[in-house]
Amino acid sequence: MAQPSDVAPEILLKRYQDLPDRKLLRAVIKEAFPGRIAVVSSFGAESAVVLGLVAQIDPSVPVIFLDTGKHFPETLDYRDQLIERFGLSDVRSVKPALMDLAREDPDGTLWERNTVRCCELRKVAPLSRALKGVDAWVTGRKRFHGALRSYLPRIEHDGTHFKINPIVDWSAEQIDRTFDDLNLPRHPLTEDGFLSIGCAPCTQAPLDGDAVRSGRWAGSVKTECGIHDRPVTTAASGPRRPGA
Ligand code: SF4
Repeated sequence: MAQPSDVAPEILLKRYQDLPDRKLLRAVIKEAFPGRIAVVSSFGAESAVVLGLVAQIDPSVPVIFLDTGKHFPETLDYRDQLIERFGLSDVRSVKPALMDLAREDPDGTLWERNTVRCCELRKVAPLSRALKGVDAWVTGRKRFHGALRSYLPRIEHDGTHFKINPIVDWSAEQIDRTFDDLNLPRHPLTEDGFLSIGCAPCTQAPLDGDAVRSGRWAGSVKTECGIHDRPVTTAASGPRRPGA
């Protein structure tokens, strides 16, 4: 069978765009990108769903966690809890480059002055390094998480990697039900009303209960960290920027 690198991205996008959650995950892990795919997880409020689905297929699929140095201690504990629960055998906690931090954020307060640059140093650049060697990564993004995500397809290509969004069309209720049905542990901060959980300095409970991500970088225009900023191609369209 032709390897993914031998096949035009447009053909792979069309081949997999209509497969639902579990079927899509099985196809990309076992058929399209065996040994060349990773999951990127924040170990946040809803992360257990995708990690659980992946683990049912293959718990040795690499999981990349962007260990920014700014996470809540509860998130780090939850990461360890899910690793054990799902038997994840290859979780890679990826840290920012020490030289970058020494040069631009020696006292760890860059987030107070420039959240865009802080996310570049602590998330975007480390992810870029971590994705070397894979052709595809799995995300847990959902359309109900806001306007910028409402357009998302199940699979897209950013010029370098395929991005797989297996639960993109799931609702909040479906996610909630899955937690109950599979008896999945919840992130401890959900008890305090947190719906979307990132770095501690930039996360609070939602300002608007209907806007899941409204507690992220609250009070600023920033709504995304930047790891999804590269222009993407989907089966339904040519290259475009997210939200364009
Ligand atoms: Fe820095 Fe905040 Fe971005 Fe985390 S979310 S990397 S603390 S700006």
